[in-house]
Amino acid sequence: MQPGKLIVFSAPSGSGKTTIVQHLLAQPELKLEFSISATSRAPRPEEIEGKDYYFLSLEEFKKKIKNEEFLEWEEVYRDNFYGTLKSEIQKIWAAGKNVIFDIDVVGGLDIKNIYPEQTLAVFVKPPSIEELKIRLKKRKTESDDKISMRVAKASIELATAPQFDFVIENNDLQTALKEAYDLVASFVGANNNRE
Ligand code: 5GP
Repeated sequence: MQPGKLIVFSAPSGSGKTTIVQHLLAQPELKLEFSISATSRAPRPEEIEGKDYYFLSLEEFKKKIKNEEFLEWEEVYRDNFYGTLKSEIQKIWAAGKNVIFDIDVVGGLDIKNIYPEQTLAVFVKPPSIEELKIRLKKRKTESDDKISMRVAKASIELATAPQFDFVIENNDLQTALKEAYDLVASFVGANNNRE
């Protein structure tokens, strides 16, 4: 099997990385497929099993850790485990696609360390911690204490930005989308002649 490339987008929760990743996935010439992570957190109302995540119970998740089924995994928040299944990457590569990840900074850097040559690791930086707080509140997917937890974590995550191959500052979404497209297109060797 010919292994493809790995594209990691990591950022504090609320930085806009999911919007960037969705935009890139919509560009067929990049031949990207999203790595669906496994998680032990509860699904949000709009989330679909096998599309957004593979939702597992805490026991199921821990069993897969024991069986070494994960390429990487993290307890991102207490009792909320997230991880990349080795089977997911094999499946995407077998289909001749490149893998794109929407993953936390520790997991992102783990993947870069495991596959240094094949991985493009991009950090998406929010304009400020204040702005991050506003975005998370607007999103209305988390309670106030969960927002505080995510904001506290964001400050720690911001310190890891220099370890990534590139940092995109998401001040203006259109600019961030174009920067992300150009980086990925040149890394995967896609035709890079669009506006
Ligand atoms: P959320 O609960 O908002 O979906 O995700 C919380 C955090 O977990 C985000 O930073 C997200 O990128 C990260 N995450 C999602 N999947 C994975 C994964 O497979 N591994 C790791 N390490 N983090 C993940």
